[in-house]
Amino acid sequence: MSQSSIARHGRDYLAIPGPSVMPDAVLRAMHRAAPNIYEGALVEMAAGIVPDLRAVARTDGHVAMYIGNGHAAWEAALANTVAPGDLVLVPATGRFGHGWAEMAEGLGADTQVIDFGKSAPVDPARVADALRADTGHRIKAVLAVHVDTSTSIRNDIKALRDVLDEADHPALLMADCIASLGCDRFEMDGWGVDVMVTGSQKGLMVPPGMAFVFFNDKAARVRAAMPRVSRYWDWTPRANPQEFYQYWNGTAPTHHLYGLRVALDMIHAEGIEAVWQRHDVLARAIWAACDRWAEGGALAMNVADPACRSTAVTALRLPSPQGTALRRWVETHLGLTLGIGLGMAEPGDPAAGAFFRLGHMGHVNGQMVLGLLGGIEAGLTALEVPKGAGAVEAAAAVIAAG
Ligand SMILES: *Cc1c(COP(=O)(O)O)cnc(C)c1O
Repeated sequence: MSQSSIARHGRDYLAIPGPSVMPDAVLRAMHRAAPNIYEGALVEMAAGIVPDLRAVARTDGHVAMYIGNGHAAWEAALANTVAPGDLVLVPATGRFGHGWAEMAEGLGADTQVIDFGKSAPVDPARVADALRADTGHRIKAVLAVHVDTSTSIRNDIKALRDVLDEADHPALLMADCIASLGCDRFEMDGWGVDVMVTGSQKGLMVPPGMAFVFFNDKAARVRAAMPRVSRYWDWTPRANPQEFYQYWNGTAPTHHLYGLRVALDMIHAEGIEAVWQRHDVLARAIWAACDRWAEGGALAMNVADPACRSTAVTALRLPSPQGTALRRWVETHLGLTLGIGLGMAEPGDPAAGAFFRLGHMGHVNGQMVLGLLGGIEAGLTALEVPKGAGAVEAAAAVIAAG
């Protein structure tokens, strides 16, 4: 038997930063015949989903649901608040910040991007400068990515609220929590976020296909003053449906709703604070291992300061093309799939082979993380990448300490 066939036996592990691992209970809930979308169990279930989503986002605000991925959530948030010719300010810390800005441009908005590079968080002082310079209050919204999944940088969203308040600037604060919701601590109301977007397939542990936009009364007033909003993206009927179909502007994402119901039950049974705590411990275990490997001089984490790292995803590099070689090795030999590098090098640049990412979001526990790290240890050994010793032991010590 060749060594590569080992991977074909046993359960594969997809450790990419979305879609995340789906709990068996979520999959079981989705495996059913098509339900009636006009009355009965599905219709009755929908009402409970909204308050439970609010609890995960820590908000008493409004929720609009869409059939779509994270890009749909981006567009939905903008379509309700930003008209052609309006200006948005985008402090970018990776590919997803730029992506949201591009989405705004596509809708006819003007964008002012402050690029903080690929390994540093947003500096609120520079955002404050831009807000103070905007004496005419042209900036309608600040589009901030909480966790930029391409770089694994976590930004301080509350600090952006503080600089908006200090500048007495009326712009909406909009947060992309597609990677972070249900992983990294996020407090929509406590941090003064006006609009928050997320998707089903990361911390919420459901397949891709549902997008969520949370908004407060201030954002609702901005929506009410818009000259026009496309009927499909309009969040008003979705957030205040008289009939079940209005949640979706048509047919509901029937099976996703059954999966989401179970995923929300799991999050609430664990407790959102405990969910954040679990992600924190597991992330620190991963970082402890990476610190040991880094002693060999080849592997490096993208974000140097642990306080600026997401607990949901870790971006890493090796001398090119060893990042790609490692991904190939662990997939072929172990059935373990790591994330590709994203936005770190131009397509076709040989340097792209350096980067890879670990997803540790959602339905992940200690044995999965230790298996992930053990798999990387094996891959680095097989590829003869120089590395420090004791990485898995260091991770185990973090998990043992809880
Ligand atoms: C995944 C992700 C997106 C894009 O979501 P899609 O479902 O791929 O459209 C946007 N922003 C962040 C921060 C993400 O992690």
